[in-house]
Amino acid sequence: TGFAELGLDTALLKGVEAAGYSAPSPIQEQAIPVVLKGGDVLGLAQTGTGKTAAFGLPLIQKLTALDTDLSERQVRSLILAPTRELVLQIAEALKSYAQGSDLRILSVVGGASINVQIKFLLKGTDILVATPGRLMDLYEREALFLDGVDTLILDEADQMLDLGFIHVLRHLTKILTAPRQTLLFSATMPAPIARLSRDFQNDPVRIEV
Ligand code: AMP
Repeated sequence: TGFAELGLDTALLKGVEAAGYSAPSPIQEQAIPVVLKGGDVLGLAQTGTGKTAAFGLPLIQKLTALDTDLSERQVRSLILAPTRELVLQIAEALKSYAQGSDLRILSVVGGASINVQIKFLLKGTDILVATPGRLMDLYEREALFLDGVDTLILDEADQMLDLGFIHVLRHLTKILTAPRQTLLFSATMPAPIARLSRDFQNDPVRIEV
């Protein structure tokens, strides 16, 4: 199977080509059509399997669809990942896939100036990639408006659990009230993550690679 057969359009295929990917990885083959259709995904996958593109490519395609109104520049897609390095890596990958679009992609992590991040957030962004601690810090300072979030991605959920962020993930179940597509990726499935999936996801397609 090629990327085109998974339902990706020309603009994204160019991004895929620019990234040097010749064929989709197993998780991409399974997840991309589900994400494009709006379904939830519970992905059991290690890092290195290509999961960033598995959620990133269809996410960008949906946000750049002609009928998507981005004029408000509210956060539409929220991506949480456990570490600063992973957040920055995800944001870089998304920016490369989104080349040629005018999508705004912003990352916020701990250890960087929160005032600078607040300034960027005020200008608006379509995709926000964040570590859980900094996300909640910004939320509590009312620098973040999350009512427009329609896609939530939790990457390396088991690592976020290990770092003590399960309360943040659960808190999100309360503050994200809009109808939502949720993609949850984790290398392992400890009980609190399985419970999070049950409480938070809507009939997810389980993908194991
Ligand atoms: P990830 O698991 O998302 O961290 O991706 C691991 C690495 O594989 C990254 O360097 C990606 O750029 C690369 N990659 C992702 N998908 C593909 C693909 N279909 N073909 C070749 N490399 C890929």
